[in-house]
Amino acid sequence: MNKVLLRGAFLVAALALSACEKESGIDIAAKNMAVATTNTIQIVGNGTWGMVGQQFSNSGAWAQIPVSNYSMTIDYAAGASHVQMTRTEPSDADKIPNTAFRKEYFGFLGANGEEYLSGTSAWNVTATNPAAVQAAAVADRTAAVHSTPHGFLKLAIANKAPYRETRRGGDTTFTVGNQKFYGRFNAQHDLELVQTWIDNPVLGDMLIQTQFADYKVYGGARFPSRITRIVGDHPQLRLTVTGVKANAPAAITVPDEVKNYQAPPIVVAEELLAPGVWHLRGGSHHSLLIDQADHLIIVEAPQTEARSMAVIAKAKELVPGKPIRFVVNTHTHFDHSGGLRAYVAEGATVVTHAVNEEFYKKAWAAPRTMNPDAMAKNKAAPKFQPVPDKYTLSDGKRAVDIYSMRGLTHAEAMLMVHLPTEKVLAIADIYAPAPADAPPPEAPIPGAVALIENMERVGAVDVTKVAAMHGTRVGSVEDLLIDSGRMQPKGAKAKAKAKAK
Ligand SMILES: [Zn+2]
Repeated sequence: MNKVLLRGAFLVAALALSACEKESGIDIAAKNMAVATTNTIQIVGNGTWGMVGQQFSNSGAWAQIPVSNYSMTIDYAAGASHVQMTRTEPSDADKIPNTAFRKEYFGFLGANGEEYLSGTSAWNVTATNPAAVQAAAVADRTAAVHSTPHGFLKLAIANKAPYRETRRGGDTTFTVGNQKFYGRFNAQHDLELVQTWIDNPVLGDMLIQTQFADYKVYGGARFPSRITRIVGDHPQLRLTVTGVKANAPAAITVPDEVKNYQAPPIVVAEELLAPGVWHLRGGSHHSLLIDQADHLIIVEAPQTEARSMAVIAKAKELVPGKPIRFVVNTHTHFDHSGGLRAYVAEGATVVTHAVNEEFYKKAWAAPRTMNPDAMAKNKAAPKFQPVPDKYTLSDGKRAVDIYSMRGLTHAEAMLMVHLPTEKVLAIADIYAPAPADAPPPEAPIPGAVALIENMERVGAVDVTKVAAMHGTRVGSVEDLLIDSGRMQPKGAKAKAKAKAK
């Protein structure tokens, strides 16, 4: 052996030794939690769960529901998860101020929500649908898998994440594709915090933070006993972990309906309500188009930019050559505001409740690196027309009266729109007419009662057509009177009632 080779061998040995001595904090954390040999994990516990984007007030938390029997099963190699929980009614002590707990959310996924992920497929199993595809949930559910201690450490190791020692312990920052990850460790090399970001139509690059505290040993598996997941600024999950099982069979299989799922095309079906006024319906969320003298008004920009693009195209097809000058936003729930930015990019002014302006300004100032939309690309500055109690948009001929509603449990700040000449009322969420052949409600629908009370309070009672932002059809004032208990059903409704008995 010559001298050079000898020196080389010595160097390699020395490097190997120093690598051993300086074992990364990530490796130590992974060893402490047996990450390499943990292929699946089941976490059970109880706590509270919140619906992101369904805040009562803009400053308040996501609508919170206590959950028991929470379980999350993950198959790390398959990138698969199964979450189920039992949602329960909060006691007064559980009620979080400013959230106006809403019974309507009991219906969401049923009492036992079951949420699945496998690779790039996400679906829910509900009482009525064994394979309800949730394409928009893939990023969130994948982030949840990566935001478990084992998931994060596996991802960090696979991506050769650098470890940095800090005064308190250590941390790591790395990216996978266009997604950023940050992890923080304490002096015992326990993972305390994971941060990552996913794209959201309202919040842009939306921060998801998962905090881990009070590590314990569960049947041989080391795991945090408290997990808090904060999405945007508010908790989405607070979990007290009562049990952890490593390497139990996960058995998550993708149903054929999910495997063969093709996203339906975005449809915009128009119905003329009065000259120059159309109800523009989609699969689940609708808008209103109003043709003014030299511009257009759109009421509601739900869901996503893609939905807005389709509605804008339909508006330009029905009324060519006029700019969309105003978009009226009924409330800030994300499914009703996710498409607003497309109208800002078009140059439209956002007409919304006065208290919402600051919320949107802050949300829309956030970076949008993951999925830049038209507003981010053309750097459009949003313009707002705040609505205090009442605001009227008029072209000198047609008045569009916009009112702030009161006394709702759905959202603190909510608008309804009344066209007094055309006798059309536009309303979101609190009321939508049931199908024409559905039996009338057993008891007055609270949202219908609240709507009638608000119409009477502001004097917007001259209505023949109720254009809701959900539902399958335009309602009549009779529908609203029956649903609010002000009128006895007659005709088809009375027949449906007799048939239901
Ligand atoms: Zn809503």
